[in-house]
Amino acid sequence: MGATEIPWTPPESYVPVPSAIDGIEIYGPAEQKAEKEQTRTFKCPACGGVTSYDATQQNLVCPHCGHRQDIAAKVVGQTADQFEFTLETMERAQYGWGAERSELACESCGAVVAVAKDALTNTCAFCGSHRVLAREADPNAPRPTALIPFKTDRAQCQAGVNEWLGRGWMHPPELRNIRALQEMTGVYLPYWTFDANLGADWKAEVGTERTESYYQDGEWKERTVIDWDWRSGSIRRAVSNHLVAGTARVSHVLLERITPFTLQELVEYEPGYLAGWQAKTYDLPLDQAWEIGKENMREMAKQDCYRDTGSSHVRNMQMTVDFADEAWRYILLPIYLASYHFDERTFQVVVNGQTGAVAGQKPVAWLRIWLAIAAILSPGACLGLLGLLLAWTGIGAFGIVLGLVLLVAGLIGAIVIFRNARAAEEI
Ligand SMILES: [Zn+2]
Ligand SMILES: [Zn+2]
Repeated sequence: MGATEIPWTPPESYVPVPSAIDGIEIYGPAEQKAEKEQTRTFKCPACGGVTSYDATQQNLVCPHCGHRQDIAAKVVGQTADQFEFTLETMERAQYGWGAERSELACESCGAVVAVAKDALTNTCAFCGSHRVLAREADPNAPRPTALIPFKTDRAQCQAGVNEWLGRGWMHPPELRNIRALQEMTGVYLPYWTFDANLGADWKAEVGTERTESYYQDGEWKERTVIDWDWRSGSIRRAVSNHLVAGTARVSHVLLERITPFTLQELVEYEPGYLAGWQAKTYDLPLDQAWEIGKENMREMAKQDCYRDTGSSHVRNMQMTVDFADEAWRYILLPIYLASYHFDERTFQVVVNGQTGAVAGQKPVAWLRIWLAIAAILSPGACLGLLGLLLAWTGIGAFGIVLGLVLLVAGLIGAIVIFRNARAAEEI
């Protein structure tokens, strides 16, 4: 009787390790992942219901029995933990959300958001698609160090958008009657904040204006000439809390319009604030965000250098910028993503969840725009025509000149109106 093979299974958490002897399998304990921390669920101690963070009450509130639970998070404001750009600080950063959360991955636009474990969402807040997959949240995603809690609740958000829709003469007056937003999702958006001390040396040709007399056609005249000479100088600037959005899923133009955020209200990251809300994971990693941040800071330094020349005539500007004491932070900022339907089209709106500021796409009533443009061009055109008819008199010549001046001014106004109208629709 041959030896029966006894089926053997390695203990849990054991994995195969390389063996020096052929035919022998060796198992060893799996490398311990970073100690798994206790994750939290949000259950009401009074009735067992699922609690969520309430923007109005600024607390965890049970929607079933009204029980309130304090969140003990420290307001850290602009002193929230910062990290220098070193490997250790990347390792010191904490990972995971600290609460049981699932991820929703949109199959249409690729956005990934973290939601409460038992959230019933099946719509992507970024593109409106229903093709979303639920999966376990990545426990190794870096954890934000701080966040600004939602302060604007849904009712205030809706009221703010309605007020915004009714504003401005360029838009169809029927916008005032839109009472319901299609979707309104509160999402914590990922942001990187950067600090750095900038030092820049510049060298440029700087022009000085001088009045010069010259002789022409038998008389002395004056003209302005510019003398150029090479000059150099240096500037310093401390940049703090420069924000770079960690996602490209929301129009940066719109996000720019709902800033600023009051960073003094940053609180230490506490999973309780996320209860009942979505949180977007970043898709722009730290190194790429820092490149954008550096580019913006270089632009600030350049403007400082131009100012430092003390002249409005500058050419051949050369500049070198040094960055020192660079530090970064990963934070979450509260935003509502909303949309509304008008004229069989969908328009995007974003609302600042802290200040209630609204920005978005708005349809333009083009008939109104053309009438306005006609109205501001007509005085110049009419006066010019009248001048032409009376050209044989002195008044006629005056009318032509004044008409031309008004026409040019009207054209400038018309271009401004047209540009604003186009910007309101396309973002
Ligand atoms: Zn309860
Ligand atoms: Zn999507």
